[in-house]
Amino acid sequence: MMTSTDPHSEAVAASTRWQNQSAAAQAGTQRIDEIFGSDVFDLRKMRERLPKGTYKSVVAAVSKGERLSQLDADVIATAMKDWAIERGATHFTHWFQPMTGLTAEKHDGLTIPDGEGGVVFSLSGSDLVQGEPDASSFPSGGLRATFEARGYTAWDPTSPAFIVRGANYATLCIPTAFVSWTGEALDKKIPLLRSIDALNTQAMRILKIFGTDAGVSSVGSTLGAEQEYFLIDRALYFARQDLATCDRTLFGSRPPKHQQLEDHYFGAIPARVLGFMAEAEDELYRLGVPVRTRHNEVAPGQFEIAPLFESTNIACDHQMVTMETLKRVAGRYGFACVLHEKPFAGVNGSGKHNNWSLSTNTGVNLLDPQDEAHTNLQFMVFLCAVIRAVDLHADILRASVATANNDHRLGANEAPPAIISIFLGDMLTDLVEQLESGTPKRTLKGGKLDLGARTLPTLSRHSGDRNRTSPFAFTGNKFEFRAVGSSASVAWPNTVINTIVAESLDYLATEIEARIKSESPSQAQLEKAVTAVLQQVVKEHKRVIFNGDGYSDEWHQEAERRGLPNLRSTPDAIPAFQTAKARNLFKKYKVLSKAELDSRADIFAETYTTRLVIEAQTMIQMSRQQILPAATEHQRRLAQAVSATESAGVDASDGREELEALTDLIARFRAQVAALSDAVAGVPHGDPMKGARYARDAIFPAMQDLRELGDAIEDVVAADLWPMPTYRELLSIR
Ligand code: ADP
Ligand code: MG
Repeated sequence: MMTSTDPHSEAVAASTRWQNQSAAAQAGTQRIDEIFGSDVFDLRKMRERLPKGTYKSVVAAVSKGERLSQLDADVIATAMKDWAIERGATHFTHWFQPMTGLTAEKHDGLTIPDGEGGVVFSLSGSDLVQGEPDASSFPSGGLRATFEARGYTAWDPTSPAFIVRGANYATLCIPTAFVSWTGEALDKKIPLLRSIDALNTQAMRILKIFGTDAGVSSVGSTLGAEQEYFLIDRALYFARQDLATCDRTLFGSRPPKHQQLEDHYFGAIPARVLGFMAEAEDELYRLGVPVRTRHNEVAPGQFEIAPLFESTNIACDHQMVTMETLKRVAGRYGFACVLHEKPFAGVNGSGKHNNWSLSTNTGVNLLDPQDEAHTNLQFMVFLCAVIRAVDLHADILRASVATANNDHRLGANEAPPAIISIFLGDMLTDLVEQLESGTPKRTLKGGKLDLGARTLPTLSRHSGDRNRTSPFAFTGNKFEFRAVGSSASVAWPNTVINTIVAESLDYLATEIEARIKSESPSQAQLEKAVTAVLQQVVKEHKRVIFNGDGYSDEWHQEAERRGLPNLRSTPDAIPAFQTAKARNLFKKYKVLSKAELDSRADIFAETYTTRLVIEAQTMIQMSRQQILPAATEHQRRLAQAVSATESAGVDASDGREELEALTDLIARFRAQVAALSDAVAGVPHGDPMKGARYARDAIFPAMQDLRELGDAIEDVVAADLWPMPTYRELLSIR
């Protein structure tokens, strides 16, 4: 099967365009607007278009979190509308992130009929600031009953509005938060913003202790999320019920060649793919997303895109925009972009490495150890806060990435294990060990790497190697949380990281302040107090540090000895949100009330069960409508061949054996379809956690058994009878 579209010439055109643009960019710094055109209503545009006073208010809102007045909103709305219309926009929408994990939009025209045969363009301050979508059909986890419909969207002035465009449409998207009429957060943005506030408050206390808060007005987290994805030929994608419905294959026999030769990873990017990448990057640039890196990933058909890091709120919005853009542009090149964590059994799945750090508003990275890290006590405080946070709340961190999709990765030897640990590397491990027994005296250095060939440069070497298996790895001047799923919104894991680190910064600040006592301590007093507090933290929490092979059996046993949680599946992980520890944490830092947190646990559990049920039902349908008819047709052919052979007076015993084996396989397959169907019918209703555990224990294993039989049938049925594209076609056609 091949697509009817031939996008190669388009692809070449697109990649040439990209090269020209790169050349222009290298000639000197240029405005993105000049190179790509800009579809973002950012601060620079506001400065050009707003009266001075209004612009000042916007800056105060963005940098200090101050509220904008109704009057300011009216002025901004008018300027935004004029800009959007100049850029061809016809509609606007509040763009928000409900608990589906996707984004939501409801478009309204920027034009209003004037009643005299004409139209006026309009976007009022209240259109900008507040929207009122019906909230009843979004997941609320019991926060709202179906008849309680009222919900509001509220403009987030810190995230710039942008225009999404296609061949015949251009829509102004205004980033918003989504809240119920009763004031409870129904989305992923509100808790994230609250967690950023909490982090800011506590991190500023640490800076104040060290006297480094001068000139700093805020501290926030930074985020760079590397996105992995698969590209599958679009015609093949829609020819498979499982892909079209679930974004992953539920059957499929692995072909002889897949990723064993490691010939795809970092390989030359195929022309059609590069064409797609260039156009997606082009759009992302116009939307203000600073994408930078692209390459082939491990599995055939798998790729990655990574941006430069930004402040977390913007980075999370941009991550959603990135996923949507990849999907939108893929179609133009005859591809389907698959973001699912595990589209194919037997080859690598996709994740989203969540690079996280702390930065002052003046751009100082607080997790940068500097050259002489042992003298940098402030860095050690931030480092130890992260270590303490991850150890204390490993269960919550694990639960923040728990989905049915991601269960296929965590625990399989391709992604980090479900046990949360921290990789520090040689330099920091040495530093932490020194700290445990006194004031650190040295910083390990990496030295130089001589390649032995005169013409090659001498490389400077890092002080330690990388570790691919760690879920939470220090990578030079940031932490990389690698357990996030490729299709997930990054807002929730980052809400959790921000909150647990805020709590540890609070703890450390309080302990240090209590030991210093005086208002202006001497350097020695400060050093003594900080060292004493950090020593205690290292003693209590060093068990979470692990630099070895996270895939090994020894680590699983060792982790158990250390008392680290190993929450293997989503139903194991979700209860971490229902503990007193979690409730107090989120309540204390005003990130989520008990009701808001409970609702999320319920939604996660319900979504898990629903996903499994949809997958099981899809399997049953494919079995009955596609696999069984093909298998019985093959059976009929075999039977005819046997009887024709025998009536010709020739021995057909081996054909008969083959027929008997197939008949037996079909009988077992039929029985397993019935078993899965019974399992689906037995899902308990009422308690979401009970449903999720049932789905894991009764439905999931029945699906695996059915798949095994289905794949065995695929291996023997004639190719001309097989009713869907095979793994070979799905993975190799690009
Ligand atoms: P890798 O070798 O792991 O792919 P890269 O250097 O490509 O690492 O960076 C991966 C991501 O980390 C990029 O998105 C980058 O912008 C991001 N990153 C770098 N520094 C920081 C930081 N201080 N905070 C957050 N993310 C960062
Ligand atoms: Mg990486």
